[in-house]
Amino acid sequence: MATRNLLLLPGDGIGPEAMAEVRKLITAMNEKLGTGFATEEGRVGGSAYDAHGQAISDADMAKAMAADAVLFGAVGGPKWDAVPYEVRPEAGLLRLRKDMELFANLRPAICYPALASSSSLRQEVVEGLDILIVRELTGGVYFGEPKQIIDLGNGQKRGIDTQVYDTFEIERISGVAFELARTRQNRVTSMEKRNVMKSGVLWNEVVTATHKAKYADVKLDHMLADAGGMQLVRWPKQFDVIVTDNLFGDMLSDVAAMLTGSLGMLPSASLGAPDGVTGKRKALYEPVHGSAPDIAGQGIANPIAMIASFAMCLRYSFNMVAEADRLEAAIAAVLDDGLRTKDIMSEGKTEVGTTAMGDAIIAKF
Ligand code: ATP
Ligand code: MG
Repeated sequence: MATRNLLLLPGDGIGPEAMAEVRKLITAMNEKLGTGFATEEGRVGGSAYDAHGQAISDADMAKAMAADAVLFGAVGGPKWDAVPYEVRPEAGLLRLRKDMELFANLRPAICYPALASSSSLRQEVVEGLDILIVRELTGGVYFGEPKQIIDLGNGQKRGIDTQVYDTFEIERISGVAFELARTRQNRVTSMEKRNVMKSGVLWNEVVTATHKAKYADVKLDHMLADAGGMQLVRWPKQFDVIVTDNLFGDMLSDVAAMLTGSLGMLPSASLGAPDGVTGKRKALYEPVHGSAPDIAGQGIANPIAMIASFAMCLRYSFNMVAEADRLEAAIAAVLDDGLRTKDIMSEGKTEVGTTAMGDAIIAKF
């Protein structure tokens, strides 16, 4: 079996604690299933800065470019608040995204049945929820030029950001969304604000044309992004895949995150374009949560977001769909058994630490 190369970048805070559980899982899979994962280790964030003064070294960056997939923990913490801006911990993740050209950010919002009743939302709204937000990650108002503050004189200044999208950017992100929809419920909702934005008009046109040319079998709807935000809270189960731009995706995926409970539960994936020769996409998988310095080192972090990120890696980088399904089912089963880390603890359940949660999931897998 061909080797499957993974680069592990645990990072800072609870990153290494969560990554340790995935490392155990990989070892178990190799032993029991002969999955042939080969792992390399690298440094990113504050721990990389401490080791060599950079948020990620050129050597680790080269490993990331060569790997089939990168697993990323989390970066940052108060220890590095004063380091120079260019080498701050977050710069490591930004360089990975930029050099790997990770233009598609996938954020699932899944509500595990066992947690539906402890959600802050009505149970019928979130029970069985399984949506996927596909956010454009390398364009739009975050990067468009001009981007500046101009001094207008007499005490007035002008802040300018520019939303820019080219046809190819909209084509490739909508292509990802349509392809993913085919593996799910075959439905895509595209969100923009074509009523007030020219980039929204183009977005709508290109998504429509891409759909017509290559993905006519998928059901496509368009929604204005503000109305989409409202619908996401009102009745989120109406959606399967949502595709949207960088800014709306940032906001809508945080809204969707709140539907499902703790940050400690949420995985994400960032994908690049398929290689012209091999057809493989560069990919990075990371939990949505950060380094959580307040609980780091206590052994209480929830490893589920990191483990679920690895499930996405199995699904999207290695097409190991059955294994990904089983891993997600193992997470659900452990929750059904009543095991909870502190962040998702509720009355009558059994509180466990990071290691015990990881062990229980591996045992069910
Ligand atoms: P960042 O700037 O890196 O996003 P942040 O402070 O905004 O960091 P997080 O580090 O993601 O946010 O976490 C916010 C809080 O949520 C943490 O302080 C922690 O209490 C809780 N939390 C986050 N992730 C987890 C986890 N995996 N397990 C338990 N609690 C978590
Ligand atoms: Mg944050």
